[in-house]
Amino acid sequence: MPTTPCRSCRSPRPPRMYLCGNCWSQLPAAARRALNRKDSRAIARLRELHTQLDAGVPLSEIQVTP
Ligand SMILES: [Zn+2]
Repeated sequence: MPTTPCRSCRSPRPPRMYLCGNCWSQLPAAARRALNRKDSRAIARLRELHTQLDAGVPLSEIQVTP
């Protein structure tokens, strides 16, 4: 089964993680905290992350609804 590459840098990323370790560590702490929360809004937050990545927002400036 092919693994999905990192949405930001396209390098291989660990399964169950949204980004590769390198990109994940560049996200603001608040965004990482929000993305780590598994609740009914988790999918919406992931979509926010993807929308910003696709729009070219720098990793350090990504903002996710807490
Ligand atoms: Zn990456």
